[in-house]
Amino acid sequence: MTISHTYPFPPGGPSKIDRLLQGSFDLHHHGYPEISFDCKTRMEDVDEMSIARNAGMTGVVLKSHMFPTVGRAYHLKNLVPGLEIYPSITLNYTVGGLNPMAIEVAAKQGAKILFMPTWSAENDIERGGMSHHLRHFIDRAESKLKPGKGIRLTDSHGKLTAECRECLDAARQYGMTVCSGHVSPQESIALADGAKDYGIEEVIFSHPDSNSVGANLQEIKDMCALGAVCEFCALGCLPALQRIKVKDFVSIMSEISPDKVILTTDYFFEWAPPASETMRMLIGSFLMLGVPEADVRKMVRTNPARLLGLTETDLDSIAQKQAAQALVDGRPFF
Ligand SMILES: [Zn+2]
Repeated sequence: MTISHTYPFPPGGPSKIDRLLQGSFDLHHHGYPEISFDCKTRMEDVDEMSIARNAGMTGVVLKSHMFPTVGRAYHLKNLVPGLEIYPSITLNYTVGGLNPMAIEVAAKQGAKILFMPTWSAENDIERGGMSHHLRHFIDRAESKLKPGKGIRLTDSHGKLTAECRECLDAARQYGMTVCSGHVSPQESIALADGAKDYGIEEVIFSHPDSNSVGANLQEIKDMCALGAVCEFCALGCLPALQRIKVKDFVSIMSEISPDKVILTTDYFFEWAPPASETMRMLIGSFLMLGVPEADVRKMVRTNPARLLGLTETDLDSIAQKQAAQALVDGRPFF
């Protein structure tokens, strides 16, 4: 553990891109260990998060496909003061699936985001998504993750199940943000609609472009019409995946409005640079493709902050805390 990394600024000092990265939130960020010790990340979490903090990012949501990230977030917050680190829970079989008690306990240890099932979703299993790759790491994946054995949020009539509703009720009770995970576009639409019964007006449509979800533009528009915000992950554009081009993100954005988009990293895998760098790549690419700075700011700060339930007062006090910590560390806070 070194906790020393700082990426230098471009020649001439912080640029437009750095200024947009500053104050940004990444609502989808994995870490290590995740899945098994064999799934490496580029570096230890503490170093990677120090880079994010030193780049001026405001906060990250730690996601795990396996267990709630509450303990990990608690300790990392102490190791990287000046970065807001929020824990989350993902409703896969490792936490008992659609399990409201797991949600309650995670919330009582600080979890802010609730991800619906990912590799345990029937949709993911049927599409050969992440569940398919799990068999390389988890012995039981082969026999336990077969079509028909996954979790669905809806019944045969397309209505949300009682179990899913109980989870939404728990999310409401603890003020958690709900993400659709890897469930199908149809289930996601039922989720965005049903969430309103619990006063949850905005859900996040998790990376609809990913192979695990496979949504089309009309489904994205239908989700947004129900108040959902669409997530674009930097990871999907990186060399190993290349499932979408940034210009395709931009064209979807112009159809649904930047008010309905968040940019995240989905930081994962040893071949991916630290999250602050992939976020920076996405920000820079959007600017290069002509998206106005004000729209990029919405997608990396305004919208994610609103989804986390942060008010202007909250954001001001976080900024003050971060400036004070930068002073202690002797870092520029621009
Ligand atoms: Zn993820």
